[in-house]
This record gives sequence, structure tokens and C-alpha cells, in this order.
Amino acid sequence: MPSPDQNTVPEKSVLIIGGGISGITAAVEAAETGCRVYLVEKLPYLGGQVARINEYFPKLCPPYCGLEINFKRIRNNSGIEVLTSSMVEEISGIPGDFKVRVQTAPEYVTPDCTACGDCAVVCPVETDDPFNHGMTRRKAIALPHELAYPVRFHIDDKVCTKDSCKKCVAACKYDAIHLGANAQTREFKVTTVILSTGWKSYDPENLTEFSWGNSADILTNVMMERLGAPNGPTEGKILKPSDQQPARKIAFVQCAGSRDENHLPYCSAVCCSASLKQAIYFTRQDKENKADIYYIDLRVSGRNEDFLNRVEDNDQIRLIKGKVISVDLDENRPVIEAEDILSGRKIRADYDLVVLATGIVPEIPGIPVTLLDQDGFIIKESLENGFSAGGCCCEPKDVAATVQESTGLVLNVLKGNA
Ligand SMILES: Cc1cc2nc3c(=O)[nH]c(=O)nc-3n(C[C@H](O)[C@H](O)[C@H](O)COP(=O)(O)OP(=O)(O)OC[C@H]3O[C@@H](n4cnc5c(N)ncnc54)[C@H](O)[C@@H]3O)c2cc1C
Ligand code: SF4
Ligand code: SF4
Repeated sequence: MPSPDQNTVPEKSVLIIGGGISGITAAVEAAETGCRVYLVEKLPYLGGQVARINEYFPKLCPPYCGLEINFKRIRNNSGIEVLTSSMVEEISGIPGDFKVRVQTAPEYVTPDCTACGDCAVVCPVETDDPFNHGMTRRKAIALPHELAYPVRFHIDDKVCTKDSCKKCVAACKYDAIHLGANAQTREFKVTTVILSTGWKSYDPENLTEFSWGNSADILTNVMMERLGAPNGPTEGKILKPSDQQPARKIAFVQCAGSRDENHLPYCSAVCCSASLKQAIYFTRQDKENKADIYYIDLRVSGRNEDFLNRVEDNDQIRLIKGKVISVDLDENRPVIEAEDILSGRKIRADYDLVVLATGIVPEIPGIPVTLLDQDGFIIKESLENGFSAGGCCCEPKDVAATVQESTGLVLNVLKGNA
């Protein structure tokens, strides 16, 4: 596909806020039709939540295949500028002629970094690794994760001791570390702004009825994705965080904080399919492994219905229709109390691991609350005059739906409808 000629100003230029699968899709689709694209991501790497997923439902393929194809499209297209560790400060101007001011955090590690890792070897400071939700530790200077794009080490400003240390600077053979770097502010002129800031997990701190924080063996669904991932804390072997012994019996608690007036009133749409997927990859690890999925309704639709049939045929997985009343600890072992709606009986059962299927909360860049629905998601239809939005900041959805929607957004931009 053609990329914009360096000497001509493209008629359309787009600034995309959020470099998850939604923003990445919009970026490559727009750039490959000749738009100039600026992709602004607050983290030091692209990929958003998908970069941390173990296997994609419904096909159970590695999400990195899809991401890598897109990273290749980005690398090969001079019309896309990726600004990681960056946030939009201000948008001014008029539709079709916006000025967007973007601040990029200090670039302590420059593009000269070859990702050799010598700096991390000498770095004396350790911190929780946010990529693995704190289940592992990393050095203050580290590659955000082993498949990170851009492939560049990154310094965690909050813990690095800088001038009193400088060990990484001396260790780097490529002169790629500059601890005196400052934040940079740049301004871009664009015709369109796309919001694709995605989602974060519902805060499990609110789930006191499920003993959150009292046991390392009570996890959220996003932590489970990392536990199952080959590049995760246990190289994909699902072990109990408390003692690193293999987990043999796992309970999945559906709607943990979703469809509940005390928490999130809405259905997060993807967590049923996510738990089915996690139960499949857990039971696949050993014939002895057993998974119980406690649900109110199993909400899977479209192609994911075949996926549900697959789970129903798996005799290592039980689907239990019933709301979990509580998760307690008995001698440090998680115990679930639930009602089994179909038999009318109460269940009390202990497990090696309990996975809370926490819901999706929208991440919103600073936009007026009048543009949000009652649950805090962006109302796409309320955006006009050069603004549009896609992905999970508009409503919870899976990757296939996100990709379709973002491609559609770009068509609207090209037709001048956004
Ligand atoms: C446990 C779990 C498992 C899942 N498994 C699957 C699966 O197997 N298959 C599937 O199809 N779907 C799955 N999903 C759904 C999938 O994660 C979403 O469809 C996908 O993440 C949506 O992408 P997005 O780009 O909208 O959002 P995100 O992935 O959240 O990306 C948004 C990006 O925007 C960035 N950002 C946020 N705010 C700003 C800001 N102000 N400025 C700059 N950048 C910002 C974020 O850092 C992030 O990189 C799963 C969901 C859960 C909860
Ligand atoms: S910053 Fe330097 S030492 Fe560290 S990984 Fe990059 S090139 Fe290697
Ligand atoms: S200066 Fe910071 S990143 Fe570098 S080695 Fe010291 S603590 Fe680690």
C-alpha cells in the first residue's frame, strides 16, 4: 500500500489516543490509505491489554501473532509516528484543523538501545513488574516485556535512584542511557482525533466479600492470563502463587463485581468467554486438573457459542449455575460458598485457586462527562466535528469486534464523516 510522499501534505491526518488493538488497527488502516497518523500511547509499549493475554478466544491462538503483523505494518509505514510514554495535554482549533499538544515523558533510554540487557544486570533496584500485575519483580531498568514494541529498555522513574547510582549508564556499550533527559512537548496539526483508550479491570479492592487481598491464591482474571502465559511469571505452568505448587482445582467466579448494583451494574460482555478459555487452557495442562465455573448466566454469543459447546463436552470442567455468596479462607485455602440454583442446594467447596472474573471499566481521556453514558463509557454518537471513538472505551467487546469497529471508523474519517 502507498505511504504518504514526504513532499506532499496528506489531506487527512489523524491523531489516535491509545495504542491498544483498537488504536493500532485505526492507525494502520488510516496510514495505508495515505493519512498521516500520530499514535499516542501512555505506556512505553503498544498493544494495550491484548499484549498481556495468553491465548485468544475463540481460536486459542497466541495474541502476539496478530499484534506482530500490525507492528510490522507500522514499522513499514513512514506515515505513522508512534509516540509511546506520551499523553495528550490539550486539543484546540476547529474541526478539520486541530492543534494537539502532546507531552512525552523523559526519554532516558534512546532508540540506540539494542535490548542487550547489560544495564538490567547491574541495576541494584527492584520493583513490582506491572506487566505481570505485581506477581514478579523487575529491575528499575527493564524491557517492559519480552515481546515489547518498540523494543527498547525503559526506566521506571518512580524507583530509579538516578544520579546517586548511574550504574546502567556505565554498563551500556551503546551510550543509549541519558539520565538527564527532559520531558518533550510537541504540537501536531491534524484533521481528526480518534479516542481508543480502552479499559482497565474493575478494582478488586472493592470485592471484600471475596476475601480480596487475604490470599495470594485469589486472583483476578487478568492475573490468570499472565499465569497461563508462556512469557508470564511461571512460564505458563499454572502454579499456586502461595507456594508455587501446581494448581489442580480452580473455581472461576463469574460477574465478580459486574451486574451488581453495589459494583458495576452492567455486563462486561467478555468475561464469560475469558473464563471458558482459561478453564480450557488450565485443564489442558493435566488430565487431573478440574475447573468449576460459577455463573449467573453464561453470556457468550456468535462464534463463541461453539466455544461454549466445547467446554460443555469437557468432563474436567463443571458449569455451576449459581451466585457465589462468599470466598473465605480455611487454613489459608480458599473456600467458596454458593447456591446451586438447579439443585436448590448450597455448595461449600475448597480450591487451590479462585479466579475472580472482574469486569471492564472504561479508561477515559479528559473529555466532558456529558459525552459519557450512565456507566462511564463514551457515547460514540455524541462525538462529532472531527472526533470519533472506538474499542472498549465505548463498550466492552472482544478483539474481533474491536478490529471491525476501528476499521469502520477509518472509513468514516476518509469519507469526511468524522
Ligand atoms: C480477562 C480477559 C481476557 C480477554 N481475552 C480475550 C480473548 O481471548 N479474545 C478476545 O477477543 N478478547 C479478549 N478480551 C477482550 C480484549 O482485552 C479487548 O477486546 C481489547 O483489549 C480491546 O482493545 P482496546 O484497544 O479497546 O483497549 P485496550 O487493550 O485497553 O488498549 C487501550 C490502550 O490505550 C492506552 N491509554 C489509555 N488511556 C490513555 C491516554 N489517556 N493516553 C494515551 N494512551 C492511553 C492504554 O495504555 C492501552 O494501551 C479479554 C478481556 C479480559 C478482561
Ligand atoms: S540501554 Fe544499553 S545496556 Fe540497556 S539494553 Fe539498551 S543497549 Fe543494552
Ligand atoms: S540509575 Fe536507575 S536504572 Fe540505572 S542502574 Fe541505577 S537505579 Fe537502575
